[in-house]
Amino acid sequence: MSLFCDVALAVPLDMVFTYAVPPGMEPVVGGRVLVPFRQQRMSGIVVELHDRPPQVKTKKVIEALDLSPVLDEHLLKLGKWIADYYLAPMGEVFRTMLPLSAEFKRSVAYRITDQGRLALHLAGMSGSPARSKRTPEQQLVEFRVLDHLAEREGVREERLRGATRVGKALLAGMVRKKWIVREDVSAARDAARMVKMAVLLGAEASPPLDGPEARPHTGSAKTLNANQQTLIETLAASGGRLPVEALRGLDVPRTTLGTLVRRGLIKLVDEPQDFTTSKLKPRQSPFEFEFSAAQKEALAKIGEAVGSRKFAGLLLHGITGSGKTAVYLACMRQVLEQGRSSILLVPEIGLTPAVAADLHQVFGDEVAILHSGLSDAERAEQWHRIRRGEARVVAGTRSAVFAPVSDLALIIVDEEQDSSYKQEETPRYHARDVAVMRAKMAAAVVVLGSATPSLESYYNAKKNKYALVELPDRVEMRPLPEVEIIDMRQEFQETGQEQVISRKLAEEIRERLEKKEQVMVLLNRRGYSPVVLCRACGKTLQCKNCAVSMTHHKRERKMECHYCGHVERIPDKCAHCGSEYVYFVGTGSEKLEELLHGLFPQARIGRLDRDTVRGREDFEHALNALNEGALDMLVGTQMIAKGHDIHGVTLVGVVGADMALGLPDFRAAERTFQLLTQVAGRAGRGQSPGKVVLQTYFQDHYAVQFAARHDFAGFYEKELQFRAWMHYPPYSAIANVLIRSEKLDDALTWSGELGRWFEKTRHEGIRVLGPAAAPITRLKRDYRYHFILKSPSREKMNALLRAMLAEAAARKIPRTQVIVDVDAVWLM
Ligand code: ADP
Ligand code: ZN
Ligand code: ZN
Repeated sequence: MSLFCDVALAVPLDMVFTYAVPPGMEPVVGGRVLVPFRQQRMSGIVVELHDRPPQVKTKKVIEALDLSPVLDEHLLKLGKWIADYYLAPMGEVFRTMLPLSAEFKRSVAYRITDQGRLALHLAGMSGSPARSKRTPEQQLVEFRVLDHLAEREGVREERLRGATRVGKALLAGMVRKKWIVREDVSAARDAARMVKMAVLLGAEASPPLDGPEARPHTGSAKTLNANQQTLIETLAASGGRLPVEALRGLDVPRTTLGTLVRRGLIKLVDEPQDFTTSKLKPRQSPFEFEFSAAQKEALAKIGEAVGSRKFAGLLLHGITGSGKTAVYLACMRQVLEQGRSSILLVPEIGLTPAVAADLHQVFGDEVAILHSGLSDAERAEQWHRIRRGEARVVAGTRSAVFAPVSDLALIIVDEEQDSSYKQEETPRYHARDVAVMRAKMAAAVVVLGSATPSLESYYNAKKNKYALVELPDRVEMRPLPEVEIIDMRQEFQETGQEQVISRKLAEEIRERLEKKEQVMVLLNRRGYSPVVLCRACGKTLQCKNCAVSMTHHKRERKMECHYCGHVERIPDKCAHCGSEYVYFVGTGSEKLEELLHGLFPQARIGRLDRDTVRGREDFEHALNALNEGALDMLVGTQMIAKGHDIHGVTLVGVVGADMALGLPDFRAAERTFQLLTQVAGRAGRGQSPGKVVLQTYFQDHYAVQFAARHDFAGFYEKELQFRAWMHYPPYSAIANVLIRSEKLDDALTWSGELGRWFEKTRHEGIRVLGPAAAPITRLKRDYRYHFILKSPSREKMNALLRAMLAEAAARKIPRTQVIVDVDAVWLM
């Protein structure tokens, strides 16, 4: 039995904490323990058990929460690697790896202490608590809090604050006086997300036991008023049950439902939300067709690698529509037949309903699908299913790379270049790179699939770190679409005005609509107008929290910041000079939809962007509508560009996808090339060939030119050259170090201090650029300065970053204000 254990806690500190293990308690490595930390109790992961007495006095573990590890040896090792590679606190890494936040989250509750009871008692006697510096009002609030807690067993912070209107500071003060204690509570018992359903009692199938009179039937409808009748009829028409939310859409007063419930005609029940089943009809089974020669070869190569039980990395470069998904599914089925496990990672919006339906069709209950729509409790439930071995096929977004499968044989990363694999908060890991490392540690195979691989992966394949497997043709030898470039500067000169939709694009759209074919139009910017400009003083309306302009949303009648979500009223005059000459400039997807409606009043047009898609259902709905021919045209942001396989689309219009080329970001060309190739890939996937009309202001740019020619190799060679010259990845490792603070002075001082430290410290083979104002100088209230580090040696770079963090800590710069982003994807 060990005397001490080292625990990783989810706090922003780069260390583990040693606690004494009380006699009789048996924590396990990789299991959770509950420990006191500052004024709280927190759960953390045990990383080591030992008998080395620490220098300082230790506190005791309160409770060992797990009898067996929640992170097995492999995952524990992977987590330590992530902490080390991305310079992230280990406890925060483990928190990310375990979707048990429902059990793990620091939900805080308060409990009264004996001293608190005494204070309450004294206050009750003398009319005021012991002498204090606080105002009578504050004392009154304290009294209320003690009173509230005295009769209860631990009250959640939100509840307590709601009931007593106590402020944070006052609560903290009471904790310091030891009147109350804060503690962690497990939220695991919080039920899975429930939906309130209205159930029509008369419509239930079971025969009434207490006689027909007790139950309403259609005959009693006579006694209902019009509103009540509407509700009852709506319910009856939907099989007798509907979410209460859905009834709110009806034009009847809210009280009507209550009345009907009281009259016993309707009952309300809580039901767990149904999340795994998709309402979509499965497509033709992915195994009903004969695989192409290239597909067969890919399958064989992957199968062989899996069979060797050694690590192998493969880059599956298959053009859009080449049948990659079918290859994935076939590989995963093989693995399952061998009784082993596989994980399929997909981008945030890549887990389309169609793919989910395919997965269910092929794997039934053996598949666990982890997507962003799950509640914490649902996620935890899936995690436990996987760990019990009930689901050996896992598909999901980023964090599914941590799925606790046993005997892992294969990880597939679909659209491996997608930036949603990078987590933009601590720990700032990249799921594709973690997948490669996990496969290495588990002697498994990793397959990176894409029509447009990242420069990094392409380079690794060239260097033979990955085996390159190609699907060079579309299935059934369908041709790639022809791409026509429209130079929008020339369009401007010829028409004398700024155009959103060029004459050529309008003509092509008209043609398709006449032929009853479908059209997709991409504009990668949501909202109505991205800028509000004052003609008198030239200033724009900026977000009060960020140095970016607010976007006009016409239908929702608001201005919104797309970076922090801040919302304002639509201005009728300039905020700077008061002039009334304010103009809304530029076009977003909302305005594009309106313009297209104007041009093609008969067309049925749908829009897909973050404003119209609130959840998976909206997404599913729009794609279904297009699939079933209920829409003629779909307008949208990059959401329309990826992964969908809709056969009726023969024309893709690109109205705006090259904005990124104007940004100070070395990945701009790569991103633009990828987006253009992806969206072009939506055209001509069915029997009729497709066409793409690509409007651009950068018609000579190589990203545009190579994308138009479907020339992947050409683009990669050119881009690699540029990266080599500029010492950018894949030739150099890079890291972005961001210093942020709500106080400009702090941000300036800290970045200046660290800048001087970087200068003083000699670091051969590492370039340090900065400090400089970040391209977005202010974001979510924080002023931002940054450094960019580049080095061919990752070890050296990480050593320097580690020394920098130590220096920052010595200078008392809060850890949360120094962001280290290794392999940064965005430098903004
Ligand atoms: P990708 O992901 O490479 O863009 P998908 O995997 O979505 O392509 O495949 C495109 C379409 O071709 C899908 O409808 C799929 O069912 C179909 N498909 C895949 N393989 C074949 C094949 N060998 N023969 C016929 N159709 C196929
Ligand atoms: Zn003005
Ligand atoms: Zn903002």
